[in-house]
Amino acid sequence: MGEEGGEEYLFKIVVIGDSAVGKSNLLSRFARDEFDHNSKATIGVEFQTQVVEVDGKEVKAQVWDTAGQERFRAVTSAYYRGAVGALIVYDITRTTTFESTKRWLDELNTHCDTTAARMLVGNKCDLENIREVSVEEGKNLAEEEGLFFIETSALDSTNVNKAFEIVIREIYEKVS
Ligand code: GDP
Ligand code: MG
Repeated sequence: MGEEGGEEYLFKIVVIGDSAVGKSNLLSRFARDEFDHNSKATIGVEFQTQVVEVDGKEVKAQVWDTAGQERFRAVTSAYYRGAVGALIVYDITRTTTFESTKRWLDELNTHCDTTAARMLVGNKCDLENIREVSVEEGKNLAEEEGLFFIETSALDSTNVNKAFEIVIREIYEKVS
């Protein structure tokens, strides 16, 4: 029960995907409306909490960042523990990061309940001129795997809040 006697919701959401696809920037855009042009490794930051309103209810989204662990293929099971939602991120300008999403999905599926709300995110959609992965390819994969799909830009803010909000709403509808 919350302080005012209402219900409180806390949802753990993990952000996964290859190095440099923009995971940390998606999170900082969502939680603080900030963007970092330097790709410095985000060591230390475990998660950020953002309060969102769903159907007049306060929902706390606790969004976890890999903090660079993915470079060493060492994202631990503790990272996934208790997650009820996930953003699987690739970079639309690098096909290899799109191909990796299957591996990330496998890892997610080994650690999390299959009922976790999952969104495939094609980030950096501001870089249309150097796009390697088409919107269609993203949509098709999402459909095959039963995921939501969205393209985002952490740089110009396109669809960033929307991506998180869709996942949060989906989780909310499952638990409420
Ligand atoms: P992470 O390793 O997945 O956490 O990726 P980062 O958030 O550190 O971003 C990696 C690099 O991509 C950085 O240089 C960011 O400035 C850049 N970046 C992240 N998101 C975007 C985006 O939406 N558009 C563009 N153009 N660059 C981005
Ligand atoms: Mg990072």
